Amino acid sequence: MIDRFGPRPDLSVIREDVRAIEAYPVPSAVGFVKLDAMENPFSLPEGLQQQLGERLGRQALNRYPLSDPRGFKERLGKSIGLPPGMQLMLGNGSDELIHLIILACAKPGTTVLAPAPSFVMYELSARFDHCNYVGVPLKENFALDAERMLQAIAEHRPAVIFIAYPNNPTGNLFDRGGIDAILRAAPGIVVIDEAYLPFAQETWMPQLKRTPNLLVLRTLSKLGLAGIRLGYLAADADWIEQFEKLRPPYNVNVLTLAAADLMLENMSILDAQAAALRSERGKLLSHLQATPGVRAFDSAANFILFRVANADAVFAALKQRGVLIKNVAPTHPLLAGCLRVTVGTVAENETFMKALRASLAIGH
Ligand SMILES: *Cc1c(COP(=O)(O)O)cnc(C)c1O
Repeated sequence: MIDRFGPRPDLSVIREDVRAIEAYPVPSAVGFVKLDAMENPFSLPEGLQQQLGERLGRQALNRYPLSDPRGFKERLGKSIGLPPGMQLMLGNGSDELIHLIILACAKPGTTVLAPAPSFVMYELSARFDHCNYVGVPLKENFALDAERMLQAIAEHRPAVIFIAYPNNPTGNLFDRGGIDAILRAAPGIVVIDEAYLPFAQETWMPQLKRTPNLLVLRTLSKLGLAGIRLGYLAADADWIEQFEKLRPPYNVNVLTLAAADLMLENMSILDAQAAALRSERGKLLSHLQATPGVRAFDSAANFILFRVANADAVFAALKQRGVLIKNVAPTHPLLAGCLRVTVGTVAENETFMKALRASLAIGH
């Protein structure tokens, strides 16, 4: 506890549910081989770093950013193949867009629904925005339980359904037929979250035109730009018009926009990095699958979920050896014994495998 020079503040004005929870834990990773947060492990080529420095240096930091950077959105739309007639909305990471979508729908008693386990921000945002949250369990093998989803949709009539495609933390792509059935049954919005598109290479973007309740959410984070915080939402203009009313006017800063613009011109560099990670993912998966005491699950993302006998002990032993991954075992009953590792560089993955073998030996 820090020294205080006066009385403590009276926190009774703070919401009870806020006081009751812990802040979203982001562990310090200084000095670790960092394989916990699905970051791209590669830096930018030196020439591009230089160019970036010059580009950023030229920005008018004394001015507010453009509130609606149409030029950038046009270039982004072209780069991603945005279907004609659809619009883009930019967010300070896709986390912000998740929050704004829910906020726009948060009438008293509104329900947000998603498969479980899935990305934690769907539930957190729903709760922060005073919505009910329903998590519909996946099957044991982490496949989407479409029948259960349809039942839950009929029962709870959710205003918003989130489907991470591929799913985090399980890494799999859900069956398209199941998602189609959900799109037909949903009384409100269905957001398909394609955060891992560079590693899955599967998208719902072309379906936007004939599915008015579909929204496609993406981010540049997992592609290699987690630090600039830029997410985007693609949807019918009527939806975007409503969400835009809630967006803080300067949510995407000038440095982020300038950096993203430069990266759009150099997308081939990030695409090549994603391709390298997809190939490393294959190698890491086969190493994990060949390791006694490990059950590793197929992944379409830049991470792999695997199960061990004692997840807490293996996680701690890995950390002791300087390797930080994510212990997801406590987060959902279906994830009992499960750990999640991000695909890193060749050297990082080797360090991880070596540390894992040693950690498993201790865990027994
Ligand atoms: C990482 C992640 C995000 C968050 O992306 P940001 O743009 O960095 O906020 C969104 N959805 C899923 C499923 C993720 O795993």
